[in-house]
Amino acid sequence: MKNPQENSGIKSIPLFRVETGKVENVSLLQLTEEEWQARLTPLQYDVARRKGTEYAFSGKYHATKETGIYRCACCGTDLFTSGEKFDSGTGWPSFSAPVSPLNIRTQADRSGGMIRIEVLCSRCAAHLGHVFDDGPPPSGKRYCMNSATLDLKKTG
Ligand SMILES: [Zn+2]
Repeated sequence: MKNPQENSGIKSIPLFRVETGKVENVSLLQLTEEEWQARLTPLQYDVARRKGTEYAFSGKYHATKETGIYRCACCGTDLFTSGEKFDSGTGWPSFSAPVSPLNIRTQADRSGGMIRIEVLCSRCAAHLGHVFDDGPPPSGKRYCMNSATLDLKKTG
């Protein structure tokens, strides 16, 4: 018995959902550049689809301490929770770990004359920011994100 989603040509991937605590299969979200431009604000489009960076201390979440789930502003995938958010002093929202390694993917970014690790949304491939090795224990990671590509669902 074939999965009907395979027949339709839309690939689905396993993603972790914080509210259910379960891994669920979700179809990839693949839109054209025109569709993304129509759906996103100019800043969201620049960051998510053109790998831009918002100005430090300019985003809405760099100092946020509210309890909730930070979702992808492009496709709604759960990415981080307030429990992993910490004050990095950089002016960008910073997290020590994603909700699950399933929900993000990383790749080398050689732009700007340096090698950094770029972080992308697994479902829609939005550029989210970069991950660095100077975060707090136990992970030692600092996920340096752009507020523009996050959408906080408050749960507190
Ligand atoms: Zn996404």
